[in-house]
Amino acid sequence: MSDYEFDLFVIGAGSGGVRAARFSAGFGASVAVAEDLHMGGTCVNVGCIPKKLFVYAAHYHEDFDDAAGFGWTVGPRAHNWRTLVDNKDKEISRLNGIYQRLLENSGCTVINGRATVIDAHTVAVGDKTYTAERILVAAGSWPTDQSYEGGEHVITSNEAFYLDEMPKRVVIEGGGYIAVEFAGIFNGLGAEVTLVYRGAMFMRGFDDDIREHLAKEMEAQGINLKFHTVFDKVEKTDDGYRVHFTDGVVIDTDCVMSAIGRRPKVTGLGLEAAGVELKENGAIVVDDHFQTSVPSIYAIGDIIDRFQLTPVALAEGTALAKTLYNDTPTTVNYENIPTAVFSQPPIGTVGLTEDEARAEYGDVSVFKSSFRALKNTLSGRAEQTLMKMIVDKKSDRVVGVHMVGPDSGEIIQGIGIALKAGATKAVFDSTIGIHPTSAEEFVTMREPVAEAAE
Ligand code: NDP
Repeated sequence: MSDYEFDLFVIGAGSGGVRAARFSAGFGASVAVAEDLHMGGTCVNVGCIPKKLFVYAAHYHEDFDDAAGFGWTVGPRAHNWRTLVDNKDKEISRLNGIYQRLLENSGCTVINGRATVIDAHTVAVGDKTYTAERILVAAGSWPTDQSYEGGEHVITSNEAFYLDEMPKRVVIEGGGYIAVEFAGIFNGLGAEVTLVYRGAMFMRGFDDDIREHLAKEMEAQGINLKFHTVFDKVEKTDDGYRVHFTDGVVIDTDCVMSAIGRRPKVTGLGLEAAGVELKENGAIVVDDHFQTSVPSIYAIGDIIDRFQLTPVALAEGTALAKTLYNDTPTTVNYENIPTAVFSQPPIGTVGLTEDEARAEYGDVSVFKSSFRALKNTLSGRAEQTLMKMIVDKKSDRVVGVHMVGPDSGEIIQGIGIALKAGATKAVFDSTIGIHPTSAEEFVTMREPVAEAAE
């Protein structure tokens, strides 16, 4: 029998923590989970789920416009922000309950409150302490804040989901996932949107063609993209806010939002005092099996800052539970992680960008296709879909696939399986297309386009 109250004490009931807790309990461990906010963490409460619901809401704008070409007469339209937020809140409460029950039904003890690590085997929640043979820190991440004058007027994605009213004008700083997703949401819901990014082109790390294509489509939808500048200060005015930029430009707005990354949420967890090594940005240092510098303390998910993606946290939670409690040492393979950005139009991507592929393989073929989706022939929408595939010439393996266009997340999930299986271009070519779809383009890309540019 163990000398401790629990085999595993999990801090944080987000995607990674809940997965690790449930699976560990399923393998026979006695598990406690502490959470000080809501069950399900960022993804369920202020991330993936409400974001996607808001994206659906925003997309109706386009759908109503497109309907006319198909013979529909759509009457006067108006959007009620309150209805959207209330319905979203109801759905999230339902999901909170599901997460609570998932934990309880798998035999975990759920503790409400903020946990602090006291030492290698002790955790405090409020005025109670608990002992555990192992501690798992899965406390997630939090939006990065900035220090400039008027920073207190600036919201993050945390608050954007709960605004009392839909702003008529919004200024968003950042050039990553959250900034472009919220620019699309607010624009679709009728706001005048400005997106501000410090560099020459947003979505750094994505394929250059994809970045440029998204920028063009967002501008075509009326989003004001403002690159090469950052916020200097924000002032409260009689009817909203005035944003001053470092390039001297000033914009009046109703809502100022910052989306400049998310930091590991380590503050107040007592990790440094317990001897857990952290990186400069606060991320917990772990080995391949998620063990920290203190052997009985483990960490997974956003707090280790490898990939801040829910499915990655789930994979890490599963691997850890199998390693610790199912006698199956398991690591996570971080290669070829497919991802989608729910911008409008959305990005789907897996594998290497063209630049990365050239650096790694030297000789690559690049296939590209840009077209107006069938639906747009009758809707009249000018939006173009872009698809791109990168192939290592020597092995014929497909090493990167990228897309901007409707359903790209849905399409790239399947392509991700092909890449994981090491599919060659010949395999793609011998696959029969599904007609008429956009996805069939990925199996009919015949002529490489990049040779001339080399
Ligand atoms: P990202 O890391 O995606 O992007 C951060 C952006 O902010 C970059 O454009 C960065 O610029 C810019 N930036 C960073 N610091 C500053 C600064 N001091 N001043 C001005 N700009 C700055 O972060 P997000 O906040 O958008 O999202 C956090 C993470 O959450 C994502 O990385 C992603 O992993 C995850 N996420 C995933 C989603 C999905 O799967 N669909 C949706 C939303 C979030 P630069 O590039 O120049 O460094």
